[in-house]
Amino acid sequence: MLPPIARRFVAGETPATALEHARECNSRNVKVILNLLGEHYDDPVEADDDARAYAALLADLADAGVDACISIKPTQIGLGVSEARFRDNLRGIVDVADEHDRFVWLDMEDHTTTDATLDAFEEFVEARGGGMGVCLQANLKRTRDDVERFADVPGKIRLVKGAYDEPPAIAHKGRERVNELYEEYLEYMFEAYDGGIAVGSHDPVMIDRARELHDTHGTPFEIQMLMGVREDAQTDLAREYEVWQYAPYGGKWLSYFYRRLMERKENAGFALRAVLGR
Ligand code: FAD
Repeated sequence: MLPPIARRFVAGETPATALEHARECNSRNVKVILNLLGEHYDDPVEADDDARAYAALLADLADAGVDACISIKPTQIGLGVSEARFRDNLRGIVDVADEHDRFVWLDMEDHTTTDATLDAFEEFVEARGGGMGVCLQANLKRTRDDVERFADVPGKIRLVKGAYDEPPAIAHKGRERVNELYEEYLEYMFEAYDGGIAVGSHDPVMIDRARELHDTHGTPFEIQMLMGVREDAQTDLAREYEVWQYAPYGGKWLSYFYRRLMERKENAGFALRAVLGR
């Protein structure tokens, strides 16, 4: 069972708790991106099961009338088995998303998956004429080319700093350099894109920069943050901008919860206070 301290970052273990969470966010004008926790499957049965779970979730979201979409990890639906399995499962999910007019995001995992993820995104989003998005990571040295590659492609791009510890040959390692590049890519996107820009960051500096760029160029954008992180800012920003909260759910919550605790000492402190009942 999900312990109370994990509920800050995880929207329960079932589709029903995820929907309940989405309703609560929607009541604050915050839209929701649901992610069923799971990744790195090399067993096709697990990959197919999660693909079916996403298809069922899309129907549930439509039935419930909540303002929510999904975000999938490619290795969760078969990329660790084969590229063909990943694409077959993605096709099944996208067909159901079409039926219910729902948006589908692809998360970006480590660099070994980047090409397969971007190629699938491009093919599917072109065929669908939009309705899909993919994440690009500012820390990867290839990303300038990728940001340019998608300027005239339909759909959305979520720009993040990058969560994976990648080798220095292919990734910028310094925090300052990654921040500089994040800003540079934002500037390019606001100038060259017609819209479809998702600022996937909790960083007030990057969010302020995006607001300035929006004021200058008029390009539409949205802000995306994780469940449990700067929730007050999410509510405040949603009064003026489109804000989406990325909310994971499902039985495989433990490693995700651990990552959230470890990335910031404030979060670890919060967990400790919860355990001590203070
Ligand atoms: P950081 O550089 O970590 O911090 C900058 C500033 O932001 C801090 O100084 C502080 O002011 C504020 N801040 C950051 N975290 C907190 C906090 N917990 N509490 C309070 N203030 C805080 N990465 C991937 O590699 N692939 C993905 O598909 C992916 N998807 C993502 C989707 C969303 C919606 C988000 C928000 C992130 C995603 N990430 C993904 C993670 C991303 O790459 C970063 O690792 C993560 O967001 C941390 O970077 P940051 O820009 O938020 O801020």
